[in-house]
Amino acid sequence: MNDKINLTIDGRQVDAHQGATIQQVLESIGNPAPTICIHEATTSEGICRLCAVEVKGWRTLAPACVTKVKAGMVIFTNSERVNRSRRTILEMLNSGVDISEAPALQTLMDKFGADRQRFPQAKTRTQDVKDDNPFYIRDYEKCILCQRCVQACGDDIQFTYALSVSGRGFESNISTFFDTGLPETTCVFCGNCIAVCPTNALQSKTEFLMKQEPDFDQISQEKPKASQKETSVRSTCPYCGVGCQIDLQVKNENIFRVDAPFSIAPNYGRLCTKGRFGLDYVHHPTRLTHPLIRKEIGAKPRQAIGLKGFRQASWDEALDLAAAKITEIVIQKGGDAIGTFCSAKATNEDNYVFQKFVRSVIGTNNVDHCARLCHAASVAGLQIAIGSPAMSNSIAEMKDLDVFIVVGSNTSETHPVISTFFKEAVVKNGARLVVVDPRQIEMTRFATSWLRQKPGTDVVVFQAMAQVIIQEKLYDADFIQKRVEGFENYAASIQDSTPEWAETISGVPAEEIREAARLYANAERAAIYWGMGISQSVHGTDNALSLANLALLSGNLGKAGTGLNPLRGQNNVQGCSDSGGLPNVFPGYQSVTDPEIKAKFEHEWCVTLNPEAGLTTMEMVDAAEKGIIQGYYVMGEDPMMNEPDLRHARQVMEELDFVLVQDIFMNETAAYADIILPATSFAEKDGTFTNSDRRVQLIRQAVPAPGLALPDWKIIADLAQRVEARLGREKSAGFDFGSPAVIWDEMAHLTPTFQGITHARIARESGVQWPCPTPAHPGTPFLFADTFPSGKGKLTPLDYRPSQELPDDEYPLLLSTGRVLYHWHGGTLTRRSKLDDIYPDPTIEVHPQDAKPLNIQAGDWLKVRSRRGEIKVKALITERSRPGMVFIPIHFAEAAANELTLDARDPQAKIPDYKVSAVVIERL
Ligand code: SF4
Repeated sequence: MNDKINLTIDGRQVDAHQGATIQQVLESIGNPAPTICIHEATTSEGICRLCAVEVKGWRTLAPACVTKVKAGMVIFTNSERVNRSRRTILEMLNSGVDISEAPALQTLMDKFGADRQRFPQAKTRTQDVKDDNPFYIRDYEKCILCQRCVQACGDDIQFTYALSVSGRGFESNISTFFDTGLPETTCVFCGNCIAVCPTNALQSKTEFLMKQEPDFDQISQEKPKASQKETSVRSTCPYCGVGCQIDLQVKNENIFRVDAPFSIAPNYGRLCTKGRFGLDYVHHPTRLTHPLIRKEIGAKPRQAIGLKGFRQASWDEALDLAAAKITEIVIQKGGDAIGTFCSAKATNEDNYVFQKFVRSVIGTNNVDHCARLCHAASVAGLQIAIGSPAMSNSIAEMKDLDVFIVVGSNTSETHPVISTFFKEAVVKNGARLVVVDPRQIEMTRFATSWLRQKPGTDVVVFQAMAQVIIQEKLYDADFIQKRVEGFENYAASIQDSTPEWAETISGVPAEEIREAARLYANAERAAIYWGMGISQSVHGTDNALSLANLALLSGNLGKAGTGLNPLRGQNNVQGCSDSGGLPNVFPGYQSVTDPEIKAKFEHEWCVTLNPEAGLTTMEMVDAAEKGIIQGYYVMGEDPMMNEPDLRHARQVMEELDFVLVQDIFMNETAAYADIILPATSFAEKDGTFTNSDRRVQLIRQAVPAPGLALPDWKIIADLAQRVEARLGREKSAGFDFGSPAVIWDEMAHLTPTFQGITHARIARESGVQWPCPTPAHPGTPFLFADTFPSGKGKLTPLDYRPSQELPDDEYPLLLSTGRVLYHWHGGTLTRRSKLDDIYPDPTIEVHPQDAKPLNIQAGDWLKVRSRRGEIKVKALITERSRPGMVFIPIHFAEAAANELTLDARDPQAKIPDYKVSAVVIERL
């Protein structure tokens, strides 16, 4: 059908599409009408009327942003009537509000010859600047009521609905739910409202305060000229695996505001509170600035000490001592006597150099990182089922989903920007969502169906869904025939896994399981997303396998809007694994035990490599306990917060001969170090992070490093060369890297899936998704279009096993641990940010039914005890968790949840169970 029409604009014949707005047509001919309320990320609602144009025969002017074109329309965009209207609107705006910080409006005033004195008496909305939260100020004298912020908070970006317009006429105002006071507000402090405000009525507090500083300019005079300029540096958020693109606004060597580009994947201008307001840790006064050496080195048992127990040292002294200690262990006990932890917060380049040092110089494959403690089970399960552990589809596909399952992911707190795309899919595009979660997380408000299983019973629910799909013949026979093996065997194995059977174990009503199965299997395109809620479990591998079974049965793989998508936790947990930060694989998941691959790396690195796979994180703890491992090298990780059963982990740490820690802050693990090496943060170095959807993105240096801190890769390279020299190596494995781009090139050369990616290309294309095997390859938004890396997908029969420690009379409550919106993992960063002002205390969610008999009120401090330890936390009385279940965030060192958790592991992935253990609570 031809939808082209013809109209006349300012005397010129113009073709347009039926249904387009006048503004869209004006934009298409390069002559957009001026506007205040239109923003690329928000919907036009004809509010400001500045874009109004004259249409021949129409009595009133027509707002171009919302008026649809019609065939034969005759439009005047520059008539006297139009310009008079624009002048008057601007003059009235200027009289009612303070537009001094709205340069675009000032320009329009000049352009249309607006009189700044015309309506001086109209300024009635005088108000105090509202400074009632840690992140932004609200100055409604500057508000022009364009309502972009309301739209951004609502259906255009955030779906939080914390803003609205109240009052009428001159009394109209934007009101927020934190006018009711913290912490009741529904505002999640994402700051997306600030990002679209054109007048600074909403403004980042750091920026506001910077401008108020009386001697700001004077301070500037003392700095070198370059640092006084405002600069904008494109980088990648260092918190979660969404990998949001950010613009760091810098002045006087300070990040004073964080913006996000609206046209760039993966976040398209959206940020959460951590990315927008949580980067102030970079400038925290407790940053490590000098190498530190323990004053009483060698004393055993090793004690946890504060900074006073260390003395400052030069880089030369610290690195020489570290090299001597490492060499001593390697010579006396062999490289396998050292355990190393690389970092999901460091760059791909840092991690590549780290594992190269460990493998080629220390001579061990004992290298692992926190993926072991978050998604190792997803990796193990997906490897078995389809031969690839990565998220199969892209974040960009999320808003167009048809049906999707979210399980074990409190997405709006752990991956907040992804949750906005999920909400958009539901609210704007009619997608249907199935949430599977024991807690009433925010995503349940958007769900068609919420299956509230008992913790630890996920496999049962998914087995029953698969049983329904097979019994009701909802499976994709063609897909199975071409791409899946093991159907007959699998179908026979789940005959008895009926929804009724699942209901008795999981508590989820059988009919709800049936409905969810039908919804998922009947969808044209259906995707599954999951988080640590099901991977940090003794059933973690089975959980991933049971989800893979569903996707393979229903053919929901290999096309857009489908897939198996583990939402990765840390910013670079994907990249750290990709770069070889695992004990069994080189970069690109190339097996360390494959003789051909090993020979390739030996040739490139000029060494003989250890042919045995190394130990995982938890196996290293076991080996240290037995005295097999005698030294640790920990880069950017905090095992003394993250490992389960911390009391046991501490005992092991106390007996080590040597501990080397490299980090940006003192933390619980550094307290046990002999030597601490100060590293740079993401804002002080160049490199790449790889986000959850395999997108390799750049970080760029925006501010100078504090003190003597150095990028991780530089520290490792220097240390590696010193150890090589002490070992008497004639030929170096090669650590003379000039820049992170050179490191990337070496890794890409050795890694087939990266060979088409360079730093220059990432910069040009704002990120490239691997696999990308050649420079001409476009990158891969979704995987498995034609085949799986393992050939055919494998359906795996599974058995249900109860969790290891369930509540009993002595410990009657089930403990689950996890994250909250305002903090991040061990809290090392967010506890040193303004984010901590919003959520300063360790908490426990207690259901009212459990609180009442113990007379527990909201805000009471409670003692929580398990068989392993105890902590003190503040009570939140809420129905969010099921009766009989409590939830404790993992971010608070003073009340570390892992004092309570047990060291029970998934048999295949060796991941500990952080979601099910038994505790008792009492009032203090
Ligand atoms: Fe950063 Fe994740 Fe928030 Fe994006 S969603 S701003 S990557 S923490």
